[in-house]
Amino acid sequence: MEYVTLGKTGLKVSRMGLGGIPIQRIDAEGTKSLLHKLADQGVNYIDTARGYTVSEEYLGYALEGIRDKFVLATKSMARTKESMAADIEKSLHNLRTDYINLYQVHNPSMEQLDQVLAAGGALEALQEAKAAGKIGHIGLTAHSTEVFARALELDWVETIMFPYNIVESQGEELIAKCKEKNIGFIDMKPLAGGAIENGTLALRYICANKNVTIVIPGMAEEKEMEENIKACLDSSPLNEKELKEIEEVREQLGTNFCRRCNYCAPCSVGIDISGVFLFAGYLNRYGLGDWARNRYSSLAVKASACIECGKCETRCPYHLPIREMLKECAQQFGE
Ligand code: SF4
Ligand code: SF4
Repeated sequence: MEYVTLGKTGLKVSRMGLGGIPIQRIDAEGTKSLLHKLADQGVNYIDTARGYTVSEEYLGYALEGIRDKFVLATKSMARTKESMAADIEKSLHNLRTDYINLYQVHNPSMEQLDQVLAAGGALEALQEAKAAGKIGHIGLTAHSTEVFARALELDWVETIMFPYNIVESQGEELIAKCKEKNIGFIDMKPLAGGAIENGTLALRYICANKNVTIVIPGMAEEKEMEENIKACLDSSPLNEKELKEIEEVREQLGTNFCRRCNYCAPCSVGIDISGVFLFAGYLNRYGLGDWARNRYSSLAVKASACIECGKCETRCPYHLPIREMLKECAQQFGE
């Protein structure tokens, strides 16, 4: 495994870490087994979030006895001092530890970032927790380049997490600035929320960019883990065949696709928006029509139920025309 320094934090981390979202798909025992295998392979970075339902709890259970083998990072959507202080305590409790290496402000908008920075804002709680030795470092995660650019100017920001992959290169220049400013860059959504099928190609593309400090693919299975590690260890330059495939993926996906971040939720009438787009993707892209129709038919509320209130679109960090896209899905699935 290749190890790198995570910017100003000085932490030595494996170039690939565990993205903790898919932990929600498995159970505590499965998480334990996965973590032991990751430790055996030299992967020493784990990222989770207060918002990933059971992820912190399962990880806490799985870390018993092997906590010292990992650099542990989590994040919170809290914007006020009081709620952030409460979330830090909750994370410590869930993760069964007295110290979290990196605590991140989770995806604030520009307005929410103002709130985080203001008197009585979340930053005060993070700095107090740092002074008290409960957390080691403070970072920020973002989905918009506007917030990313602003974060680069904040001296307390030691790491920045942002999506970067074959079809999302809007952060490329800002990622290079992270390197200049010695801010650790953590790459999320390496597979564009599952839209990129070839995980090996996706990770090879990211690891070829040396401005990316660490990449955190979501993993829940041993097979995925092995493939991901193999891809990240291969330091040979991208070959002709891979470059051609990268172009094909770009042509196929374009820019108007859902990354399954779920920030658009809740829908006013209960549509599982990212679920609908996922099944439509399978219907259109991967030749899994029967499977997609079957799964779609099990959704309690179909795309056709959209009342076009537009609330979801104000929350989508990718500014997707959700209403239009849902109309297309309703047509394709016939309901
Ligand atoms: S526009 Fe449609 S999908 Fe979006 S929140 Fe309103 S009802 Fe739900
Ligand atoms: S529609 Fe937008 S906010 Fe909702 S899951 Fe997809 S990318 Fe995320």
